[in-house]
Amino acid sequence: MIVKMTLFAKVVLDQAIDRPLDYAIPLHLQKTAKAGHRVVVPVREKPRKGTIISIETTSLFTNVKEISEILHDQNLLTPDLLELADWISRYYAAPMSKVLLTLLPSIVRKEMSEKQQIVIQKAISGPKLIEFTDQIRIKFPKQAAVLDVILRNPKGLFLSELLELDGITQSPIDSLIKKGILEKALLTVDRTPLHDEEYIPTKPKVLNEEQAVALNSIRESIDSNIFKTHLLHGITGSGKTEVYMQAIDHTLSLGKQVILLVPEIALTRQTIERLKSRFQRQIAVIHYRLSDGERFDTWHHLRKGEIQIVIGARSAVFSPLPNLGLIIVDEEHESSYKQYEDSPCYHARDVAVVRGKLTNATVILGSATPSLETYVNAKNGKYILHELNTRPSGEKPTVHIVNMRDEMDKKKGGALLSDVLLDKIKKNYDAGSQTILFLNRRGYYSCQICKECQKAISCKHCDMSLTFHRGLNILSCHICGFTLKPPIEICPSCHKPDTMKYQGPGTEQVERSLHAIFPGIRTLRMDRDTTKHKGSHDRIFGEFRTGKADILIGTQMIAKGLHFPSVTLVGVLGADSGLHIPDFRANEHVFSLITQVAGRSGRGHMPGEVVIQSFLFDHPIIKLAASDDYKTFAEAELIERKEFDYPPFTRLVKIIFSGNNPLHILSYAENFYKALKKALPQGFTLHTIIPCGKAKIKDKHRFQCLIKGNNILKITPILRSLTLKKPKSIHLLIDVDPTSTF
Ligand SMILES: [Zn+2]
Ligand SMILES: [Zn+2]
Repeated sequence: MIVKMTLFAKVVLDQAIDRPLDYAIPLHLQKTAKAGHRVVVPVREKPRKGTIISIETTSLFTNVKEISEILHDQNLLTPDLLELADWISRYYAAPMSKVLLTLLPSIVRKEMSEKQQIVIQKAISGPKLIEFTDQIRIKFPKQAAVLDVILRNPKGLFLSELLELDGITQSPIDSLIKKGILEKALLTVDRTPLHDEEYIPTKPKVLNEEQAVALNSIRESIDSNIFKTHLLHGITGSGKTEVYMQAIDHTLSLGKQVILLVPEIALTRQTIERLKSRFQRQIAVIHYRLSDGERFDTWHHLRKGEIQIVIGARSAVFSPLPNLGLIIVDEEHESSYKQYEDSPCYHARDVAVVRGKLTNATVILGSATPSLETYVNAKNGKYILHELNTRPSGEKPTVHIVNMRDEMDKKKGGALLSDVLLDKIKKNYDAGSQTILFLNRRGYYSCQICKECQKAISCKHCDMSLTFHRGLNILSCHICGFTLKPPIEICPSCHKPDTMKYQGPGTEQVERSLHAIFPGIRTLRMDRDTTKHKGSHDRIFGEFRTGKADILIGTQMIAKGLHFPSVTLVGVLGADSGLHIPDFRANEHVFSLITQVAGRSGRGHMPGEVVIQSFLFDHPIIKLAASDDYKTFAEAELIERKEFDYPPFTRLVKIIFSGNNPLHILSYAENFYKALKKALPQGFTLHTIIPCGKAKIKDKHRFQCLIKGNNILKITPILRSLTLKKPKSIHLLIDVDPTSTF
């Protein structure tokens, strides 16, 4: 007689309970149940969903209940991803349920089988539709707008796509269906984006010596199946992408898969085109603007091993690829790789390195301005360093720094564009070349300030001054969207009349000024105001690249990794504004931003020029960025970081306490602080509680406390146990390795 042994599963519930619970696996499920399976289990007699994180032969508990049901026909999370989840939970002091939700988004957990979507198409002939549209245009403009879109898409459009477009809502669509002009159809589709677009194939380029040396070393790592991290430190335009491409090619030839992480904003058609035209393979794109259906289909294709290359923003690092060979993190210094608003506050670059280690994959970090953490890791041999110092396509751009104090004197206060820059814009325009102007402030004026008391008009709900948008004629909060109608004639702080003046010109003003100075000039503006809708990035970049505009004006959205061969002039306005932020990374951010923006100039066959306008004309960071001297910058900055004990010489944990009542939060935070101080292991220091850099966001008051120390895994269990006793009215966020202390 065979005695069947009882097996147990540790299950993390989707909601509420933080620690895993033990459940017995009934005999008929013992063959199927694996770690990573989604299950239904009873909790106080009610069915609840959860994820098995491990299978055990014993349980410390008696009267263990049985798993009721296994969902899906396969385990959704593979062992390496579960191991990664465990590391994230421990390192970032995050509840496992939250970590699993990050790896396995709720849409992916759904049991959808039929992939059907509603398609809206015309129910009458084309000529009749045109006639009808013209008839109703005045009386029903919203319906006419829908029909205009349908006329441009004769095969019809997914309802979801239609609703994403500017000014299109559900009710005019419904009315048109009722009238028999449009009809609904159900279509079974594969919702993976970019499915049937065609690209012109390209061939690998010949590498220069630096590129070839780097690629060889990377190939060796990939072949050896031993985890290694490579830093590709190359000046802008030095051809990092070509090295990535050939490393991807090599990985694919071994039958393995690739994840390419890029900053959210670089996820444009340009990057995708480059990959699609080189590799005639299945490529998936993951970003926050995917629809639920697209996300569901993409995820399940990945899980089944049907896709070889994933390109995406930070969450793509969790792509469930069964045979991962290579992870590339492009622009690894980018702070957008860090999740900081919600737990787990993970850094996708660091998670990529850990995932590489767990799967024996090769990791490539690429940047012109590596983060100092990465630079030090490469210097002390933890990562393999490759330097690319030549621009295959041409020469480095010539850089001019303009002292804006002189310009202010010359123009009696109102200088936005210096004479030097205006002169060069004109020459460039006359020559038919393109210009990029960078200003990291959107709107027309960034604030309205009182001449008497110097206080700016700020948001009712946030610690944030209101930005003036001339086109919309509103003052608006860039955090919560609160608006006021100008003009504001009495200062809300000192109540004096006629004291308010505008300050801090933004991108909207730059655009208007250019049109006033150069009538007929064609401009495009790219900032969060002009890119609210899906596809708007692609449209703006596409128009600029095909020469439909002379000047592209934008915020940091335009700084990243874009390749416009006919741009020969870049203007950097307000280059120094970031240097005023009281944060240990302020210098690093400004240096890398200027370097990146300047790098957009002269990438084609014509030499490029860069004009940097600064009020801090002599500031060393501006000078070093202008001369593209990363090494001198890094060495100087490291000395300072060491002196003040900041990363990479120590690690930081930022704890943010927030809630509606500042007194309650402060009293809770003080108790937390005392308990933490008592439990603090050796080698850690605790800073006093202070209001956050933005002390109020959306009516929530915020305080923070900083911990410094080296062995993070020593302190995170203590932090986790302290947070368990938190009252519901207070929100607490643990941010390990924060990108800023501000
Ligand atoms: Zn606000
Ligand atoms: Zn005032």
